[in-house]
Amino acid sequence: MKSYLNKTFVIADPQARIRTDENLLEYVMENGHPKLIPVGTNIKVTDTKVLRESVFVRADDFGWTAGNNLKHGFLNETLAVFEPQDNNQKGPNAAWDNGQFLKQITLIQIVGADNKLKYISEEIAEFYLKMVNDAQDDGVPMPLKSGFRTYPSQEHLYHGYINHLPGFNLAARPGFSNHQDGFAYDFAIGGYNGNPRYDWLKRHAPAHGFVRTVNREPWHWEYRPQVASTGAFKIPSVTDDH
Ligand SMILES: [Zn+2]
Repeated sequence: MKSYLNKTFVIADPQARIRTDENLLEYVMENGHPKLIPVGTNIKVTDTKVLRESVFVRADDFGWTAGNNLKHGFLNETLAVFEPQDNNQKGPNAAWDNGQFLKQITLIQIVGADNKLKYISEEIAEFYLKMVNDAQDDGVPMPLKSGFRTYPSQEHLYHGYINHLPGFNLAARPGFSNHQDGFAYDFAIGGYNGNPRYDWLKRHAPAHGFVRTVNREPWHWEYRPQVASTGAFKIPSVTDDH
C-alpha cells in the first residue's frame, strides 16, 4: 500500500538537499555546496526509504531527499503493510485491550508528526485516511503523534517510566494502554476550542466514526462508530469540552 504513487508533491523547504543514492546521510554536492531542489518544484515520488525512523523520498528527476522537505512533510502517506507472522500474543501485531489479548491485526506503516513512522490498523485505515485527507484538503493537516503501539513498544515505554529514565513519561502497563487495540490515535493538538485541529475534529470526526474518549486529552481520538453515529464528538464521560 503506497498512497504516494501517482500523486504530485511540492518542495516547501528552501534547504531541500539531495542525498546520494549510496548513502542517505551524504549530500550531492555542486560547486562546493549541497545541491538543492528549488522551492515550489513539483515532484513525483517513486520510492521511499526509512533511516533512523525518518522517511526519505525519491523523485526520479532529482534523487533522494528528506520527506519533511515536502509541503505537509509527506504526512499521512502510507508506506507498507505488515501482516501478522505468527500468533505470538506479545508480538508486534498483537492487539490488546484492558490487559487481555484480543487478536492479531494487520498494520499499515504511515508517516506521522515530525517525519516519524507510525502504525495504523488496517481495519480502520479506510476511515482514518479519509478523515485526515479531508482535513488536509480543508487546510488542516493532522500530524499523528501516536497510533497503534505494539506490546514490545509499550513494554519499552513502561520500563522507562517505572525506572524514571530520562525522556519517559507516565505509561500504562503493557496490555493496558488504550493505544494497543488499533482504534486510538493521538494527533498533535495542544488545545481545545480555537485550536484549528481540535475545531476541525470536533466538527467532522464523528462523520468518519471518530470521537474523543479521554478527559484532559483533546488530542486522543478513537474509532467508535456507534457513538459517532449519534453525531456526538465524545463519549458522555468526557466533560472537558472547553
Ligand atoms: Zn492517546
